[in-house]
Amino acid sequence: MALPSIYPALWRMQAEAGVSTRHVQRLARENGLFFGPDPGAAEQSQIGGNVATNAGGPHALKYGVTGAWVTGLEVVLAPGELVRLGGWARKDVAGYDVKSLMIGSEGTLGVITAVQLGLRPAPEAAIALMVFLDTRAEGCAAMLDVLAAGIQPSALEFVDGETLGFVAGSYPGTVPAGAGFALLVEVDGTAADARAQREALVELLAGAAIAVEEPPDVAALWRWRDGFNGVVTAVRGRKVSEDVVFPIERLREGLERFEEIATGHRLRSCAWGHGGEGNVHATVLVDAAREEELDAAEAAGEELFALAISLGGSITGEHGVGWLKRGRLQAQWDAPAVTLHEQIKRAFDPKGLLNPGKKLARQRPAR
Ligand SMILES: Cc1cc2nc3c(=O)[nH]c(=O)nc-3n(C[C@H](O)[C@H](O)[C@H](O)COP(=O)(O)OP(=O)(O)OC[C@H]3O[C@@H](n4cnc5c(N)ncnc54)[C@H](O)[C@@H]3O)c2cc1C
Repeated sequence: MALPSIYPALWRMQAEAGVSTRHVQRLARENGLFFGPDPGAAEQSQIGGNVATNAGGPHALKYGVTGAWVTGLEVVLAPGELVRLGGWARKDVAGYDVKSLMIGSEGTLGVITAVQLGLRPAPEAAIALMVFLDTRAEGCAAMLDVLAAGIQPSALEFVDGETLGFVAGSYPGTVPAGAGFALLVEVDGTAADARAQREALVELLAGAAIAVEEPPDVAALWRWRDGFNGVVTAVRGRKVSEDVVFPIERLREGLERFEEIATGHRLRSCAWGHGGEGNVHATVLVDAAREEELDAAEAAGEELFALAISLGGSITGEHGVGWLKRGRLQAQWDAPAVTLHEQIKRAFDPKGLLNPGKKLARQRPAR
């Protein structure tokens, strides 16, 4: 595999699809630049996979998901034609936006072989604050207050009380007694900008919070946040997590009703996620040896998807439809849009050669 090529003065990088996400991030940083998408598991995932799933992470709030960074793609279309979509131009409105159709297509429209990325100069400074609150209601209100105040954090993550209980032991500091919800808010920019945003946040949130603290080691804080998956899984040996989205103004309601759904199925639940975008890792804890718990988790998942749709959200904000959520798009989209989805698949891949069965809009596509 060829090494990625970087053009620091032009803020560009070209990489073959198999280059790891971490390598792309690191190479950008080493050249004073920045690649914003930061999905978990960056050591394992590849830039081609990031484009194929239009992956995002905590910093998508300010910097967008992977697609926002792609200026061009090299793709193999079925049955084997190599095409280039886009290029280095940062503005290009010629033709239908086929490149964007390919982004997030999860390998069902073509195989991405190389990616051209438009990078940005790295922010000079980042400051992260932990905001501990009493309740979910206060936490959700605080997130709305941040956005309403016109502060644009680079990340606005939430941790509910149950999750906080699991991860408190690994927090690089001390979780205050009585904290029932927490926010991890990061601001960045020039050093002066970051400081000014920090002051504005403290002024805004200190009244409602039990504590607002600035952990000295931002990297340690993010390592803690990245470790949630493993810690929560270990509680009962297995968890089932969905990555639904609620509009941020319905986040509180979505979290409350998710808890009711889980309780109704006698499952222990917790939630954390990218609060600024309403993207929730809604999680139930199960014992994999108990068939009835796995069935209950599946039933709870169905109710959760219906809830997300009814509140105006989405069945997925990150992980896509893939195999597990195949067929569910039809509940979220209008019927003509579902038909269009199927027509697009047929236009690219009439013989259904690419990732057959994945990302289906409905269980049995109309012929
Ligand atoms: C621990 C963990 C944390 C995660 N955190 C996040 C997160 O924060 N945000 C997020 O968005 N996702 C997250 N994910 C989901 C997933 O890892 C990412 O979406 C990632 O971008 C997928 O890239 P990959 O290279 O691992 O692709 P794979 O998992 O190998 O493939 C994903 C899909 O894309 C297709 N695909 C892969 N490469 C190509 C290609 N070159 N051309 C066409 N199709 C292709 C595959 O066929 C498959 O359908 C996480 C996953 C794990 C296991």
